[in-house]
Amino acid sequence: PPPTLLHPEKWCRGFNHFISQCLIKDFEKRPSVTHLLEHPFIRQARGKDMSLQKQLADLIQAQEQLGFVAKIRYERIHTRRPYRVDAADKYSLDDDLVNLEVLDEDTIIHQLQKRYVDLQIYTYVGDILIALNPFQNLSIYSPQFSKLYHGVKRSSNPPHIFASADAAYQGMVTFSKDQCIIISGESGAGKTESAHLIVQHLTFLGKANNRALREKILQVNPLVEAFGNACTAINDNSSRFGKYLEMMFTPTGAVMGAKISEYLLEKSRVIKQAVGEKNFHIFYYIYAGLFHQKKLSEYRLPEEKPPRYIDNETGRVMQDIITKDSYGRQFEAIKHCFRIIGFTDEEVHSVYKILAGILNTGNIEFAAISSQHQTDKSEVPNAEALDNAAVLLSIGSEELQEALTSHCVVTRGETIIRTNTVDKAADVRDAMSKALYGRLFSWIVNRINTLLHNAESRMNVGILDIFGFENFTRNSFEQLCINIANEQIQFYFNQHIFALEQMEYQNEGIDATTVEYEDNRPLLDMFLQKPMGVLSLLDEESRFPQATDLTLVDKFEDNLRCKYFWRPKRVELCFGIQHYAGKVLYDAYGFLEKNRDTLPADIVVVLRTSENKLLQQLFSSPLTKTGISLHSFMMRHPEETTNMKRQTVASYFRYSLMDLLSKMVVGQPHFVRCIKPNDHREALKFSQERVLVQLRYTGILETVKIRQQGYSHRILFEEFVKRYYYLAFKAHQTPLGSRESCIAILEKSKLDNWVLGKTKVFLKYYHIEQLNLFLREV
Ligand code: ATP
Ligand code: MG
Repeated sequence: PPPTLLHPEKWCRGFNHFISQCLIKDFEKRPSVTHLLEHPFIRQARGKDMSLQKQLADLIQAQEQLGFVAKIRYERIHTRRPYRVDAADKYSLDDDLVNLEVLDEDTIIHQLQKRYVDLQIYTYVGDILIALNPFQNLSIYSPQFSKLYHGVKRSSNPPHIFASADAAYQGMVTFSKDQCIIISGESGAGKTESAHLIVQHLTFLGKANNRALREKILQVNPLVEAFGNACTAINDNSSRFGKYLEMMFTPTGAVMGAKISEYLLEKSRVIKQAVGEKNFHIFYYIYAGLFHQKKLSEYRLPEEKPPRYIDNETGRVMQDIITKDSYGRQFEAIKHCFRIIGFTDEEVHSVYKILAGILNTGNIEFAAISSQHQTDKSEVPNAEALDNAAVLLSIGSEELQEALTSHCVVTRGETIIRTNTVDKAADVRDAMSKALYGRLFSWIVNRINTLLHNAESRMNVGILDIFGFENFTRNSFEQLCINIANEQIQFYFNQHIFALEQMEYQNEGIDATTVEYEDNRPLLDMFLQKPMGVLSLLDEESRFPQATDLTLVDKFEDNLRCKYFWRPKRVELCFGIQHYAGKVLYDAYGFLEKNRDTLPADIVVVLRTSENKLLQQLFSSPLTKTGISLHSFMMRHPEETTNMKRQTVASYFRYSLMDLLSKMVVGQPHFVRCIKPNDHREALKFSQERVLVQLRYTGILETVKIRQQGYSHRILFEEFVKRYYYLAFKAHQTPLGSRESCIAILEKSKLDNWVLGKTKVFLKYYHIEQLNLFLREV
């Protein structure tokens, strides 16, 4: 195995801080260990210290072993030399794992490690791209690179995310077929970054003559992510929602617009965050931005003590928000996004008001009033927060207090007003904040869609970037949903790469080796099956008013009798699931409440009276004014109670997954598998153990095998002739869509290793590229 690279910081560990900084600086200026050894500090220290001598001996040895790699690496980082653009080393067999002669985990790991330390973060497995997170900025995404990867054979350049985007684009233009790029990987593996790079390259390819449109499209991701991403224990910019971005094109491939679908925003983050985590970015951006503009008081936000919803680590937050330069800059960037995309000033002002309204709502407190007659009534002792919230949301503060501290019940045609206990009132307050934020988020997404929609577009490339698989110390309902979504994506990958391919061999009488793979179908059934799957059981239990989180876990235990589920002894509310990506222990506390996600009708009624036009829209019914169909809006916001059968989060979630799948299956898929090389977000650190786990659960070894031995493209004779007849026939000829015509085309193209089934041509992944290139040349 290649030796692990030593960072100069480690070499210098024996020295004090000042000296080591000098050494590092010196090394950075001139990345040569021999030169470093000649440094006066080292020469001075050499004679005296034995341990240092040993360290230096190691250093020299490391230099001998690694000098070459280290030198290249440092040159790349420090002199920003372009990434292998010189003709001499454009593509090597190492670039594709399918070229490996020995196929086992060790070889794959070493290959990836060797590439990673050489800053080759991308590697192909046939037509699939593996992307290792570099945890540092690389200078390989400039327009120069976009040009380099434009419409060329894949083997002309080293693997790159632009090449995958290019393949999707070329596929769309050549065959007038929608494409979809599915990016997967665990949290922090680099999915969102990859999605950005794909959008960047597609906008470049889409020749957006209209510069304004190109600018608009590029602002979509940053805007949506400011509202939907947050800092978690694993990733400082973790996606807390699923995103499917469709870039729309004309038949000639000019970009025309974009559309986003969002899935399952983690609304609970608005009201509470785990230790060490934060609320959605936008809250900090707006706080810092308004502070610098001296507008905090206009939005009724305090300067001294941050609102409860964003004050996770008491006291430190305010200092952080105000001093952290980046928050202020991000606020400006978001303002810019809003403007470029086309939001009006009035709309943006309303958005800020709602956000500030949510923060003030979180500060409303409740205290019990005990009188002789009533012991469960509550009141608001801090009228200021209540007034602030009411003013910002443009509603009456008395009405708001009323809706928070009491509720109407209709029994036998009579309306009775019941009071809320302190706890109940606090729950209603938090439910209101969650609903406000969730609806605001959906509105922003829908508004972007309206502004970027173009009726003339004919084809699209969809980019899927969902929240990655998560396994925290404490996993709740949100993690369960996130992990089920990942389970579904893995299933789709398996279906596409293994199941469908092998089924076709059988049907078509092709003799190809069967590759064994880990099928997660039984696991997915355990979640989604009706009526005995996890989601159905959860829904059933949520309907019983008397049910508790404990009865839910009991129900799981009684009904889910399979090896993927277990219940640890001693911890009552805990259950475990063996996911495709590993074992996860879930804490069922709050599951039922989170699934019911109720928003009392009293709150809806008050919010509908708002004088803020945007807020009215968010809670008006029917919602056609915003261009959102009532049905899709209700599906997205299950907490709405009026006039409809109640939707739970689980049932909405099931619907979302189906909706997502239905979008994905119409397109030709392209897969990008992101891998996290270490858990410390450290550049150049490659943990074999961590990577191996990810390679195993994503089935990379099996994927390499099937790409090596199998035929990833199967095309009906007729379709094949229709696509490629130019390669062997004259334009005026009309060859039959037959076996013979196919053979004529294949032979004329001088391809080898193809086979014919009963009705289809079976091609290797690289044939398609060759054929398309021939076609373009013709
Ligand atoms: P989650 O599932 O939590 O949303 P993710 O897979 O989307 O995670 P990203 O947010 O894309 O992860 O990546 C995490 C961090 O890794 C980024 O903030 C960035 O610092 C770094 N990173 C990822 N890819 C790259 C890249 N190509 N170049 C430089 N840095 C990168
Ligand atoms: Mg992400």
